[in-house]
Amino acid sequence: MTTETTFVGLALAEPILRAIADAGYVTPTPIQAQAIPQVLAGGDLLAAAQTGTGKTAGFTLPILHQLATRAPQAPRPGRPRCLILVPTRELAAQVEESVKTYGKYLSLTSMVMFGGVNINPQFKALKSRVDILVATPGRLLDHVGQKTVDLSGVEILVLDEADRMLDMGFIRDIRKVLAVLPSARQNLLFSATFSDEIRALANGLLHNPKSVEVARRNTTVEVIEQSMHRVPQAHKRDLLAHLIKHHDWQQVLVFTRTKHGANKLAEKLNKDGITAAAIHGNKSQSARTKALASFKDGSVRVLVATDIAARGIDIDQLPQVVNFELPNVPEDYVHRIGRTGRAGTTGSALSLVDDEEMGYLRDIEKLIKRSIVRVEIEPGFVPPAKADLMSEERPPRPPQGRGGGQRQGAGQRQGQSARQAQPGGNRNASGRAPHGKKPAANAAKSGPGRAGPQNQPAQPRKPRPQAALFSAKPGSRGH
Ligand code: AMP
Repeated sequence: MTTETTFVGLALAEPILRAIADAGYVTPTPIQAQAIPQVLAGGDLLAAAQTGTGKTAGFTLPILHQLATRAPQAPRPGRPRCLILVPTRELAAQVEESVKTYGKYLSLTSMVMFGGVNINPQFKALKSRVDILVATPGRLLDHVGQKTVDLSGVEILVLDEADRMLDMGFIRDIRKVLAVLPSARQNLLFSATFSDEIRALANGLLHNPKSVEVARRNTTVEVIEQSMHRVPQAHKRDLLAHLIKHHDWQQVLVFTRTKHGANKLAEKLNKDGITAAAIHGNKSQSARTKALASFKDGSVRVLVATDIAARGIDIDQLPQVVNFELPNVPEDYVHRIGRTGRAGTTGSALSLVDDEEMGYLRDIEKLIKRSIVRVEIEPGFVPPAKADLMSEERPPRPPQGRGGGQRQGAGQRQGQSARQAQPGGNRNASGRAPHGKKPAANAAKSGPGRAGPQNQPAQPRKPRPQAALFSAKPGSRGH
């Protein structure tokens, strides 16, 4: 079915088809072929799809169609017709970018809203018309509390990456948002996984939903070449620099477990003449978007990221992922390596494993049901002299019993802690503050007065104002 489906066949409005053609999409992806007709039909939808499947267009295209083809009821500034809730600010920026891309020939307006940035530009943007609001839950609730946004006109609600939102402890915030939405609305829930908690949320939220499902990205585990080097923690930075040069890797995404480790590694690589940028929760939003854009356009060869910062990052067909440290949550390994080998292309994931991480390795191999090939380090690598070893780089802590307390599961990090985690709070993927540091008191304070969310695409573009709107200006593109 999916191979024969065309965008024209999906009966999307002509301005949307034009924008899709501009984006270079020829055929709908399986999730799009399945989801678009369901959303256009107006009912609720439960969709199992991960990042990389084209899910964003899967809900954005039919939403744009719906909103463009029916008249708004009581349109007022700051009263969105569609609310898209997402777990992270990166994903929020990317989804809104997609909304603008696909809606560029329509006169609908959009806005992105998340914490960690100055709220004032958001107040200002909400004084204008906003048809589609893409938001993270914490900052949205701030606006709800201050009555600067009016959610009583929401016709369509999307929960995107719902499993991530629950993992990050947003369930209470989500419920608070649901409580202020009108009861008559269309609900779309997208999730990569379906835990009991997600099912409970879906049961309470969705009315007679249609279900659509595409293959889990975990299947990419088969097309990704996975290998590992056993290497002492203190040698890893030098080894990575050596490998990048030796293999002439031009685009490498490297995962570290701590923000400090990400910074140190990026510094070291730059010192060695390899362009690198770090992306993590302590970086300002503008620094993060700049790093991501430079990585996408090739001006930075290495992006060093923590798990939280990397969530939702959409980089297509990444050839090489490196686990500088193994994650202590085995599922995070699958999410990390899923950044490569997308859309049927092959990719390579290399892990640098210290003796102390062998327990993590066993947990990961158990989860993916295969062993990761151990490869000897090439003879060309000369380990750093003892004096050069950076003593502060301690190896990650070994696992503390299988599943026992390693992972703070969904529902365990709620309320305030979730608010801290969401705007890049000082937490690693397991929700723990790294190196025993206290989480940032309030990440929203970390970016005072900064310009707001900007998602810079791969190609350099003119900067757009924070919370930019994409309404066509009079006399500009037809719609
Ligand atoms: P997503 O899963 O929404 O994060 O999308 C993953 C990537 O697929 C994005 O870079 C999209 O631009 C791209 N994409 C989405 N739909 C299509 C399509 N029908 N054809 C080609 N690329 C697509």
